[in-house]
Amino acid sequence: MSGKLVVLTCGGGNGAHCLAGLASVRPDIESRVLTMYADEAERWAANLDSGFIITVHNDDGSIKSIKTKPSLVTKDPKKAVPGVDYIFIVVPAFAHAMYFEAIAPYIDDNTVIVGLPGQAGFEFECVNLLGDKAKRCTMVTFESLPWACRLIEFGKNVEILGFKDTLGASLLKGKECNLTKPIIETTQYILGEKPKVRHVQNYIAITLMAKSIVHPPIMYGKWSQWDGKPLSEKPLFYQGLDERQAELLSGVSDECVATAKAIEKKVPGLDMSDVIHVFDWYLNYYSDQITDKSNLMMAMRTNKAYDGLVHPMKEIEPGKYVPDFTYRYMAEDVPEGIVPMKGIAELAGVSTPYLDEVITWCQGKLNKEFLVGNKLTGKDLKDTRAPQKYGYNKLEDLFTGSFEVTPR
Ligand code: NAD
Repeated sequence: MSGKLVVLTCGGGNGAHCLAGLASVRPDIESRVLTMYADEAERWAANLDSGFIITVHNDDGSIKSIKTKPSLVTKDPKKAVPGVDYIFIVVPAFAHAMYFEAIAPYIDDNTVIVGLPGQAGFEFECVNLLGDKAKRCTMVTFESLPWACRLIEFGKNVEILGFKDTLGASLLKGKECNLTKPIIETTQYILGEKPKVRHVQNYIAITLMAKSIVHPPIMYGKWSQWDGKPLSEKPLFYQGLDERQAELLSGVSDECVATAKAIEKKVPGLDMSDVIHVFDWYLNYYSDQITDKSNLMMAMRTNKAYDGLVHPMKEIEPGKYVPDFTYRYMAEDVPEGIVPMKGIAELAGVSTPYLDEVITWCQGKLNKEFLVGNKLTGKDLKDTRAPQKYGYNKLEDLFTGSFEVTPR
């Protein structure tokens, strides 16, 4: 195997199957999988000899089948990690810490650790759990998953329903990391032609652009006035968006843009222009799929990519539904999404009335305390990835220390 690029996928879900499978078809890549959840490794490894299929739905309506086979699927980090060049963490954010802890003892110098997607606070958590080793690694954070994808049959068939055209990724490079191959180009090679990877200026810009801003304001707008009576059907999430929900989302996004502008003023030489309003982001990323581009509410209501997607609901008796506040739209997108963004805004000295209102309601539903008034001093801050949890108490702390914030 010497001379091959060794790529490790951490996880066993939809995206993990896609990444491990796409990397495996490259003749000069050795693709391994580490999945530590339940019995996933045993189940996947049992079927490994026959490989698996990626069914790709192309934009022109044609379907392509890719037969693929990773070289190893294991739950043992001691077998999976040594000798690896790129580690892709492809699980929901609540499971990141488990993988950082598992890989830490075995990771080589000059390894690239990729959050696919990273979600807010990926780098803070990685640096915290890898300790000194992080200084000899580089962290890459993707703003989202490259594909809309879902498993058809575990370990046997995964379906790619669509590729994003472009996708942003930031780099945070340890000052003692000596990599010879260009990181963005190599990451692009591993993913394949699509999406086109765009190098975002820095890890704070990508954190402020994480798509976890979308769900909590919509949940708050929809359910904060709910009378508690079960509904007879699941309401549409995006197509049912009303003016209040759009205003809340737009307000949160304005606060992220204001935070980026404040940081740019306070940190000389830092370019934060990648942080744009969520409406502009939709127009850039879903241009072909949106029929009414007149405002944020209409753009989201008429985005074909969102056809038929409903609110997370629990069926409490046949045909009776109540909202599920434990779903990842809240359980992940608040502590590993809007709370770290609020933490960055706080360090930048930006007031965030929209974020505060949304977090205050969400933390009540999650039975947590992150915010007290408008300050992140709640007793459950330890359960988030806010910078304050890791001891970053001044804006400069985010941009100084053992890491290059804007490597090429
Ligand atoms: P997924 O729902 O398929 O992830 C499930 C996997 O996560 C499991 O198979 C397991 O390996 C791991 N896992 C689940 N619970 C765990 C636990 N308690 N402990 C440890 N590991 C656990 O995720 P996905 O669809 O591959 O998405 C990955 C990320 O990308 C998520 O954050 C998701 O929000 C985001 N995303 C997904 C899509 C998509 O089309 N699937 C699109 C955009 C963004």
